Amino acid sequence: MWVLCHMELRDMLQSLQFDNSFVRRLPADPEVGARRRQVHKALYSRVAPTQVKSPRLIAYSREVTALVGIDEADTAAPHFAHVFGGNVLLDGMQPYAANYGGHQFGHWAGQLGDGRAITLGETLNAQGERWELQLKGAGPTPYSRTADGRAVLRSSIREFLCSEAMHHLGVPTTRALSLVATGEPVVRDMFYDGRAAPEPGAIVCRVAPSFIRFGNFELPAARGDTDLLRQLVYFTITRDFPELLIDGVPPIAEAQHAAWFMTVCERTARLVAHWMRVGFVHGVMNTDNMSIIGLTIDYGPYGWVDNFDLEWTPNTTDAENRRYRFGQQPQIAYWNLTRLANALLPLFATDALLQAGLEKYVQTFDATYREHIAAKLGLAKCSEDDVEMMHSLYGLLQSAEVDMTLFFRALSGVNPAAPDLALFAHAFYDERKRTAAAPDFTAWLCRYGARIQADALAPDARVTRMQRANPRYVLRNYLAQLAIERAEQGDDTGVHELLEVLRRPYDDQPGRDAFSERRPDWARERAGCSMLSCSS
Ligand code: AMP
Ligand code: MG
Repeated sequence: MWVLCHMELRDMLQSLQFDNSFVRRLPADPEVGARRRQVHKALYSRVAPTQVKSPRLIAYSREVTALVGIDEADTAAPHFAHVFGGNVLLDGMQPYAANYGGHQFGHWAGQLGDGRAITLGETLNAQGERWELQLKGAGPTPYSRTADGRAVLRSSIREFLCSEAMHHLGVPTTRALSLVATGEPVVRDMFYDGRAAPEPGAIVCRVAPSFIRFGNFELPAARGDTDLLRQLVYFTITRDFPELLIDGVPPIAEAQHAAWFMTVCERTARLVAHWMRVGFVHGVMNTDNMSIIGLTIDYGPYGWVDNFDLEWTPNTTDAENRRYRFGQQPQIAYWNLTRLANALLPLFATDALLQAGLEKYVQTFDATYREHIAAKLGLAKCSEDDVEMMHSLYGLLQSAEVDMTLFFRALSGVNPAAPDLALFAHAFYDERKRTAAAPDFTAWLCRYGARIQADALAPDARVTRMQRANPRYVLRNYLAQLAIERAEQGDDTGVHELLEVLRRPYDDQPGRDAFSERRPDWARERAGCSMLSCSS
């Protein structure tokens, strides 16, 4: 392992303070380096990023530079791309890959681990906040199995943009500091049809308080290593859930473990309720892709709902069973929590407290879902009747193929005394379906108009509430794809434009109508626009 520290670099990024608690406090694999192996009795392996040919900064998030305490001016220096392309380690960085397992598509998959993610270190900013910096696509690790540890530009653009878009939408997520082109090709068989081809490579530096996943707990549990499991739980509670700590009492008692599991259940419930609110489909909700602190993590073949469809999955690998379809995400999150509960069972005398946590998931999801219904429809509070009204709307949107984002955004413009379906003409994908569904929609709008006239919320407050819950701009799959195609031709401005627009998803942005239009017909069946392969 090497540390290279130019004077210039030291000056530039000198404000970064590292406090690498994960590597300091948890057991390491004694072997250093990327030799592929099964790693027992250790939660991570020390491994450095592999150098790349010519790192070039494509984009960065100014909010995230501020968050971790990097001076925005530093991003302009060529060294910045070297650091966040993995060529240079700063003083204080201690790179590692985490060891975890997971259930993939419902089946236990054994050891997975960070196969292409390498954490550089944990920074502490001036406010004392901890932000872990992790490169994705930084080269092989012991967990890379048969793969190359790299990432292609298209998937890196998607991860970079969506991380930031989700944050600005108010959805808990890992963040993205930078997107760096490596200058090296990466070979991928994008359609899994034997036509492997080189594509440009890239590296995203993602940022979060913690990258621990459900799968980090599942692996030691599956191996019967209760000591290691216990150490990880202790570490996670003390570092990532300080609000649960009672002064001077180490979190080792069953009651403390139970309170923690319950908090994980609550956070997961709120996370998934947000996904349902904004029309986000994760696409690969395997337990290794579930964050223990309730963030959206691992942006792969995710997608945004255009025409409302609870059956839709963007992931081609999942096309047959649709396990991870839009409408099933709440149930899958619950199932994933049952896997986590099962892993934690050795720390409990009986499963009663874990069951209580799972019950809390159901309650929290239900309560949050109702809050979101109230906000999306512009109601002071959501009654049983309102839930039914929303579900009947979902039925209409689905069968008439209506754009989710456009419909809800337009809904705040309804005149409750005289609702008019013409307001929604731009949200329909199929004219014939629109004509056929018009009477049902009109009836629904009349019901809705009567409901909001009877509601306690004043009209102005209602519109404001709705416009904070129903975004105008989301990262539609085809928009990301257009930016990707431009970037692959050497033009990064599409990425910059999207990043800028998505910083204010709830504001009407004059001159930016092109970013809030429904999916064009050409994008309906095109790769990258409706269906995505896992190849990344
Ligand atoms: P995912 O479905 O993207 O969450 O990936 C599942 C597992 O495969 C994780 O352990 C990843 O680190 C690993 N993986 C995915 N792509 C690569 C790659 N190109 N090189 C090495 N490991 C990878
Ligand atoms: Mg993953």
